[in-house]
Amino acid sequence: MATPRSIAVLGATGSVGASALDVIARHPQRMRATILAAGSNVDALLALCRTHRPDHAVIADQTCFQALRDGLLESGLPTRAHAGDAALAELVASDACDTVVAAIVGAAGLDSTLAAARSGKRLLLANKESLVLAGELVMAAARDAGAEVIPIDSEHSAIFQCLPDGRMHRGVRAITLTASGGPFRGRSRAELEAVTPEQAVAHPKWSMGPKISVDSATLMNKGLEVIEAHHLFGLPADRIDVVVHPQSLVHALVEFDDGSTLAQMGLPDMRTALAVGLGWPERIDSGVGRLDLRAHGQLEFEAPDEATFPCLTLARQAMESGGTAPATLNAANEVAVSAFLERRIRFLDIASVVEGALAALPQTPATSLEALRDADEQARRVAHAALPRYARSSS
Ligand code: NAD
Ligand code: MG
Repeated sequence: MATPRSIAVLGATGSVGASALDVIARHPQRMRATILAAGSNVDALLALCRTHRPDHAVIADQTCFQALRDGLLESGLPTRAHAGDAALAELVASDACDTVVAAIVGAAGLDSTLAAARSGKRLLLANKESLVLAGELVMAAARDAGAEVIPIDSEHSAIFQCLPDGRMHRGVRAITLTASGGPFRGRSRAELEAVTPEQAVAHPKWSMGPKISVDSATLMNKGLEVIEAHHLFGLPADRIDVVVHPQSLVHALVEFDDGSTLAQMGLPDMRTALAVGLGWPERIDSGVGRLDLRAHGQLEFEAPDEATFPCLTLARQAMESGGTAPATLNAANEVAVSAFLERRIRFLDIASVVEGALAALPQTPATSLEALRDADEQARRVAHAALPRYARSSS
């Protein structure tokens, strides 16, 4: 038997992190979580360390280092404690892992995603924001270092699975990403005026972290995914379509020149995509139940309502502008979504904040990481400055 895979789970305390650890724990002979990393929740990270006994635990927030180190000692674990982004990037690049599950939320995941790509690891990429922000650089780094990038976002995993050997092909005419439509599908703008964070994060089909749940409700998630697909599969925007499919059973479709269209289906559970990435090219158990189409009845498909949910259009426009525009879009969206979750702005303001940042910061060419980080920072500043304009009393 081959040596077991050694896996770094970044964003271990999150929703994708939990799914990854669930799949890994099903295959103790084949793989082991050797590095667990989280943002600032020491107690949750310690609990995972007691269950999975990794070699290393990393907390991004430096002020949490002592609590992590003491907690590991008290639990009698041999796990070594680390803190900070630099320590994480260093560990990811080291021989402490051969596979990296990149499941940190937001642009905060860029450094570790890049470290995995540059060090030639198998990169199971859930952190779509790092591709939106710096897709060319991440993909070029992976190519140069021979890193194997396997998408974890369910739609992109679906495309990966529909393509022969997971790679783009000359005979592919177009790809289609499906969208559930989120919790507010079918509503008018007037009906969205007063929706709350609780309503926005209550996704009808997927159980996910708060940021991506809000992104799904605004359709920004699908916009970020179009940009993500562009970088992963090298297709132009006009060959990446989006269709709303409320049942969330068909995850994406690949259309070939000969008129054949392949779709990938399965229950909406991220463990399938994670098992594909962890086991590839073999198929391994994920714990996900079987799809019984008789139990689901109808499958519906409809066009997205971009007039009511303009974030999808904004993302497409940013992608077409290119340069720093996607970085601006992503950063302004992160600020706006946080402000909405904190009840500082309303749901419909999210798109306005993003649109305002894109208008205020015309795109410039983005040839370097510094230029992209700079665009990210400027967009955060502009978006923060705009928040008081939308301020409302909390409900
Ligand atoms: P989540 O909020 O549940 O978890 C986020 C994780 O990131 C947590 O472990 C948190 O501690 C960690 N984190 C946050 N800030 C950090 C920082 N500065 N440094 C280090 N770690 C930090 O989010 P999630 O839903 O699991 O999503 C994670 C990523 O996967 C996102 O990019 C999301 O778009 C993508 N994704 C998620 C799903 C899903 O089903 N949840 C599906 C597709 C793609
Ligand atoms: Mg997705």
